[in-house]
Amino acid sequence: MKLKDIGEFGFIERFKPLFGHLTSEGQLGIGDDCAIIPGDEKEDWLITTDMLMEDVHFLREAISPEELGHKSLAVNLSDIAAMGGHPVGSFLSIAIPQDMDVEYLDAFMNGYHKLSEKYHTPLLGGDTTKSMKHLAINVCVIGKCEKGKAKKRSMAQTGDLICVTGYLGDSAGGLKLLLDKIVVSGKNSSLIHCHHLPEPRLAEGQYLANLEGVHAMMDVSDGIASDLKHILKASAKAAIIHVENIPISPTLKETAWFQKWDALSLATSGGEDYELLIAVDRLQASEIRDKFGQAFGKELYIIGEITNGTVEIVWKNGEAPININLKGFDHFK
Ligand code: ADP
Ligand code: MG
Repeated sequence: MKLKDIGEFGFIERFKPLFGHLTSEGQLGIGDDCAIIPGDEKEDWLITTDMLMEDVHFLREAISPEELGHKSLAVNLSDIAAMGGHPVGSFLSIAIPQDMDVEYLDAFMNGYHKLSEKYHTPLLGGDTTKSMKHLAINVCVIGKCEKGKAKKRSMAQTGDLICVTGYLGDSAGGLKLLLDKIVVSGKNSSLIHCHHLPEPRLAEGQYLANLEGVHAMMDVSDGIASDLKHILKASAKAAIIHVENIPISPTLKETAWFQKWDALSLATSGGEDYELLIAVDRLQASEIRDKFGQAFGKELYIIGEITNGTVEIVWKNGEAPININLKGFDHFK
């Protein structure tokens, strides 16, 4: 059997059960955006780690070193946001090709530092080693949240409305512009900006974590077609998504029309949007949406609902089910 037959998540499922009995009371291990380790009587610790590999996650000739430094930390802060936590510190491990310019590395650290300043997250340690060819970056972020208040993927309930905190697909559109070597005009450069400089939704996550009506939360890193399934699996539920309600930016719509791309497929399967995907109590949804709008000056988009069933997404356009094959990103499939 090849890894591509089971994919990234099939591989994780093979070893995850081996460690369940080693996980102590109150800890949350493999399967959510962060692990949870109980702290004192007031707080829980959150831990997350994410790797960025040259030619897999980024092209060195396409992303600037400052942007790469920013993105390496941002994608990890996004997982802290997804639990509703506050970052405490980060660790940076980096494998560097021997012929690399120090100026490149300084610029990388500058981007990393700027985002660290923005979210008051000190770099607390890491590891530096040689790589034969590719630049490889691994970041670990430690965070905290109020005891028992972390929003898990497993808490979605039947009838909950499914919401996202912003546009989906811009980052995938930016990646497509880069891969297809399309000349970028002033306008669609915003798509590349989204791809290279994602903003962790920390304030939004912390705000939403304080609301009882918010049941489950995660960040969108692989596209909702894949990420929503993680919520459904953890909560043993199914979902309906109304594709006409998926927020797609005017820039992506315009670029997709011009380039003959399928904007819906980019918005659902592209990934790296780093918006938050949440399941909200149906009765409180409109109040939460209003409050969110007042707090952040932007919309909380309702795109579907949680239903009874097992780990299936029914895609609808209006009331009519549509038969589309939306998968989301998997490294090996
Ligand atoms: P995210 O996109 O939120 O960072 P992933 O999809 O990368 O999460 O991973 C899903 C879950 O599997 C997470 O809980 C992560 O910690 C865990 N995981 C992924 N790879 C490994 C691994 N090699 N060993 C242990 N846990 C892993
Ligand atoms: Mg995540």
